[in-house]
Amino acid sequence: MPQLLADITAAVAPLVGQGRVADYIPSLGRVPAARFGMAVAMADGPVYGTGDWQQAFSIQSISKVFSLALVMSHDYDSIWKRVSREPSGTPFNSLVQLEADRGIPRNPFINAGALVVTDRLLTLTGDAASSVAGLLRTEAGNPSLGIDATVAASEAEHGHRNSSMAHLLASYGNLENPVEKVLEHYFNQCALEMSCEDLALASRFLARNGVGSNGTVFLTPAQSKRVNAVMLTCGTYDAAGEFAYRVGLPGKSGVGGGIIAIVPGKCSIAVWSPALGPNGNSVAGVAALDEFTTRTGWSVF
Ligand code: GLU
Repeated sequence: MPQLLADITAAVAPLVGQGRVADYIPSLGRVPAARFGMAVAMADGPVYGTGDWQQAFSIQSISKVFSLALVMSHDYDSIWKRVSREPSGTPFNSLVQLEADRGIPRNPFINAGALVVTDRLLTLTGDAASSVAGLLRTEAGNPSLGIDATVAASEAEHGHRNSSMAHLLASYGNLENPVEKVLEHYFNQCALEMSCEDLALASRFLARNGVGSNGTVFLTPAQSKRVNAVMLTCGTYDAAGEFAYRVGLPGKSGVGGGIIAIVPGKCSIAVWSPALGPNGNSVAGVAALDEFTTRTGWSVF
C-alpha cells in the first residue's frame, strides 16, 4: 500500500493545483491550491497515507454523509418521507428545483436535502452540529477535531442562497425547527476541519457494513448499503455519472477539495486537493481515486 500511494501521488502530481479553489465562501478561497493528500484505512487494519494526509481542511459537504448516517441510526428510514434519493441533475444549491419539487429536496446531499437532514438531527438530538462532531471524533479517534469558526462565520455571512433555501423549505412545511437554528447547525457541520487520515477513519464504518470503530453496530448492514448507494448516485454533484465511470465507488465530495470513497468490505479512502473542476469536485482527488481503483481493481463494479 505505501508504494501504491507513492505511485499514485507521482501520477497525479501534474494535476495538483489545476482547477479553481472555491471562493464563494471567502475563507475557503484563501487555501493554497497546490496541496495533495490521500489516506486509506483498511476495514480491519491500519491507515496508510501520502502527501498532506495529516493536514486538516474544511470538510464542507462531506459532513452530509455523517448527518444522514446519524439520522438513519436514530430514526431508521422516516427521513425519506421528507427527502428523495434521486440524482438532482441541477446545481447543488438550486432553488428552482426545490420549488418545482414542492419543497421535497431531490436527495440528502444537495444543500436543500442536507438542510432537512440537519433539521431532523436537531430535533432528534437537540444539537445537530455537536452530534456530527461527536461521531467524527469517536470514529476518527481524534478528540481534538473541531469547527473552524472563521469558515462557519464566512458561510453565515455569505449564506443568502442557503437561507433562501431554508425559508423555501419552511414555506412548504418541511422544517421542524426555526430557519436560523437549522442554518447555524448546517454551517457549523460544514465548517468541521479534518485531515484525510481523520476522514478515512471516520468513514470506515461504511466499509464495515455499519460497524463502528469500537466494534458496535452503528448502522445495520442494510442502512450502510443504502448510505453507500446514495453516495454513488448523488455524492459528487452533477458529475456522479462521471465519478462512477472513472472511480466506480460510492463517494462524497466537498467544495473544500476533499472526497471520501468507500470500497465495501475492504477500505475507506479520503483524498484532498483544493482546486476544483467545473462540477465542484477536486481535479487531482478524482484522478487519484481513478488511479487507485484502476491499479487495484477494487471497485464495486
Ligand atoms: N457549506 C457549503 C454550502 O452550503 C457546502 C457546499 C459543498 O461542499 O457542496 O454551500
